[in-house]
Amino acid sequence: MLEVNVSQLVRGVIGTNRVIDIDDEIEMFEYKVGKMTGRLKLTKTSRSILVKGHIKTSVILECARCLKQFEQPMEFDVEDEYYINNSVKLMALEAMGYFGNDVEEDDNDKDDTLIIDERMHMDLSEVLRQYVLMNVPMKPLCDVNCHGEI
Ligand SMILES: [Zn+2]
Repeated sequence: MLEVNVSQLVRGVIGTNRVIDIDDEIEMFEYKVGKMTGRLKLTKTSRSILVKGHIKTSVILECARCLKQFEQPMEFDVEDEYYINNSVKLMALEAMGYFGNDVEEDDNDKDDTLIIDERMHMDLSEVLRQYVLMNVPMKPLCDVNCHGEI
């Protein structure tokens, strides 16, 4: 359920929203992550789909002191934007019976931004991966009192 078809939302008026319950596993190259649970609200804006919500999961980390692996519970607020690129915008307009070509150009098709692809799919695992990476502590500790191996 992490890849969501948002064609209805993209075609909807600004402010249209949809709530998605997350109860999924994601694959990460960097860490082994547990199941993600929570709820995300997708809201259409003039140029993007806004993603907002709260997610709980856990991550397997290596303790910086004793080097043992341990499971770190993690939760975070999500707030991000997936941009609607121009070709998707045009497709949505055409679907509404609009065939003009005065859709303004904007350059939000940058590499590091989240984009809604031509199939009008949004891959939510992309944003969740970013949040996991942001929330991994610099020095993970299995226990605040861990003294490491002596
Ligand atoms: Zn430790």
